[in-house]
Amino acid sequence: MRSVYFRDEHEQFRLEVRRFVEEQVAPHVDAWEAEGRIPREIFRRLGALGFLGITAPEEWGGSGGDIFFAMAFLEELPRSMSGGFCAAVSVQQFMATPHILRYGSEALRREFVVPSIAGHKVGALAITEADTGSDVASIRTAAAREGDSYVIHGEKTFITNGADGDFYTLAVRIGDAPGAAGLSLLVVDRATPGVTVAKRLDKLGWHASDTAEIRFDNVRVPAERLIGREGAGFAMLVESFALERIVAAAIAVGSAAVALETARGYMSARRAFGRTLDTFQALRHRLADLDAELEAARQLTYHAAWLHEQGEPAGRESAMAKLVATELGQRIADACVQVYGGYGFMEELPAARMFRDARGATISAGTSEIMREIIARALFDTKGEGR
Ligand SMILES: Cc1cc2nc3c(=O)[nH]c(=O)nc-3n(C[C@H](O)[C@H](O)[C@H](O)COP(=O)(O)OP(=O)(O)OC[C@H]3O[C@@H](n4cnc5c(N)ncnc54)[C@H](O)[C@@H]3O)c2cc1C
Repeated sequence: MRSVYFRDEHEQFRLEVRRFVEEQVAPHVDAWEAEGRIPREIFRRLGALGFLGITAPEEWGGSGGDIFFAMAFLEELPRSMSGGFCAAVSVQQFMATPHILRYGSEALRREFVVPSIAGHKVGALAITEADTGSDVASIRTAAAREGDSYVIHGEKTFITNGADGDFYTLAVRIGDAPGAAGLSLLVVDRATPGVTVAKRLDKLGWHASDTAEIRFDNVRVPAERLIGREGAGFAMLVESFALERIVAAAIAVGSAAVALETARGYMSARRAFGRTLDTFQALRHRLADLDAELEAARQLTYHAAWLHEQGEPAGRESAMAKLVATELGQRIADACVQVYGGYGFMEELPAARMFRDARGATISAGTSEIMREIIARALFDTKGEGR
């Protein structure tokens, strides 16, 4: 299909990603879902193919592509049939490393971004705490300056790549400034003394992605691990949330497309009352409505991505894309379960996992309620931005 956003090179890249996911990922995801983790080797293979630094500058090992190469990549990841795989890989590239790449020192980029792009290191973004998620400005994990170091105390939870990853881009509070003004970002190795993985969390879906609770007890890191300057953490996070939401929307669009394709395939094979399901108008129209809505969500996501690429404010549109695509993703996964009938409820077929995995997307990377809040602020006033 001709597109204003995708050229032949993007489509070629999309096919390369599809081939990789179908041949080297999908056959193994059942085992990874059972183990609750993605093997390190897969990150290394993704890195070797240039899939982990798609938009990053070439001088840091990236491919220097535009955002539509990333969109093609993210839409293809769900062909793995594992939301957990999509989460682990997208966090590494689009959430754990962008702040370091944009605001970190050369040394930090060399130590963390370059090996992440190569697939030799795996990163996590650690913001959420047990008492606060949506209200990012209320986090309590604290870092105190002591000579040439920061000493960190606190706890984070729901951290993707938290147990098996190598480092955290960690949101902390430095000094006495209250709320958003007190936030900073530090890079912390998981292997630093005082860092413990308190718990691997059991989840409703995304089983192949490791999600953990992490404790920081008297953790000492060199002062050079500060990203940017003290007190700039909230601004850096808010700036990156637009990309996070576009990424979540693109994965939701790709996941919904796979669910719709799966439902259509089943409908053309399954027979009832002497006919295949795809001849029943009630089912055809239900899927037709969803297909139309999916196209709208897809184009909105592309538009948000285009605005972001142009350097235009994309807070409103990225929130809209995330809201619309992830909520629709749940409805499409639900329809997929329904057309499978009893088989839709069985774990041995793909519909059940799609249904469970779609549920996480309206919560992680900012809930639907927070997306509505951002859209409402743009509609009624223009005050700050929550997560
Ligand atoms: C699978 C998974 C992976 C995750 N990965 C990461 C990660 O890698 N790093 C990380 O830092 N975090 C991660 N998170 C955490 C995620 O970002 C938070 O769960 C999310 O931001 C919501 O925060 P909370 O859970 O504290 O809910 P709360 O903020 O307590 O919200 C509870 C409910 O209240 C609603 N609510 C809150 N404020 C408002 C408001 N102003 N108006 C209306 N409704 C409101 C919310 O929408 C929600 O429905 C992950 C979460 C999940 C489920």
